[in-house]
Amino acid sequence: MSGPVVGIDLGGTRVKAGLVRDGAIVATVVDILEPDDRSEDGILKALVRTTSSACEEADVSPGDLRGIGVGAPGALRHHTGVIVKSPNFEQWKDFHLAHRLGDLAGVPVALDNDANVVTLGEARFGAGRGVGDFACLTLGSGVGGGLYIDGDLYRGADGMAGEIGHMVVEPEGFPCGCGGRGCLEQYSAANGLKNMVLRDRLFGDLTEAAVGDPDLPKRLFEAARAGDPGCQGYFDEFGYRLAIALGGLLNLFNVHTIVLSGGLARAFPAFSPRLFEEMPTRGYRTIVEAARVVTCELWEQGGILGAAALVDTGR
Ligand SMILES: [Zn+2]
Repeated sequence: MSGPVVGIDLGGTRVKAGLVRDGAIVATVVDILEPDDRSEDGILKALVRTTSSACEEADVSPGDLRGIGVGAPGALRHHTGVIVKSPNFEQWKDFHLAHRLGDLAGVPVALDNDANVVTLGEARFGAGRGVGDFACLTLGSGVGGGLYIDGDLYRGADGMAGEIGHMVVEPEGFPCGCGGRGCLEQYSAANGLKNMVLRDRLFGDLTEAAVGDPDLPKRLFEAARAGDPGCQGYFDEFGYRLAIALGGLLNLFNVHTIVLSGGLARAFPAFSPRLFEEMPTRGYRTIVEAARVVTCELWEQGGILGAAALVDTGR
């Protein structure tokens, strides 16, 4: 199949849309979401707006698009294109995003959750190319997960399979927004680093302010790389908890490749030594020894390229 498609990476605070042709991003548009954009109608307008801008920048008529693919946060149904609910957009309820955007834009729209979309992108164009079975984790504010099994995304009965970020790595650990406690994303993610800093009151009276700083993970990473043993300790815990989750994941799926994506995957040099030290004792030895853990290849482009690839997989 050829012909241009638009891939949209919908985040909690911004929309990134890319015009994709033959697996390459030709133009990218980023739109910051204003308060008025956050309702169902508002987000539809924002998606149409960014799609048009991306087309304009690439000199493509919106009528020539083969389709639009959207990766969105939250609990959603890929097959019906409905977002049941999203923690980032509390007003949404059983939001028929794919049908409604398709009606407005006049082209087919495919929808999946953001982590599945990144997984699909890596499968087609990145670290999962030519690999029939792998798991992908997006390490960001939380941890998203995707399972690529037998050459396709594995979505489960409700489309919610692969929630690796909510595997329990500490039975009595930090509470989690999912309703559970001790989930991976409360440790091996930006949220996890915040939890640890708060637990230890790392910055004394300034701890609350430090935790509110979006650059906190970067600051901790740089301090760890500069030899600060306390900050390195946080990344050791990050790697230790991640090893527990990956051991369980490998026992279940026996994949040979685990791809780490998302901004915190850039801290791989800081957390991987402890991760690799711990993994052999956290899963069936022969299964774990057959597996490799690698960083992604697409990085920030994964959301757009994966969403564009979604168009070809159909709704
Ligand atoms: Zn959870």
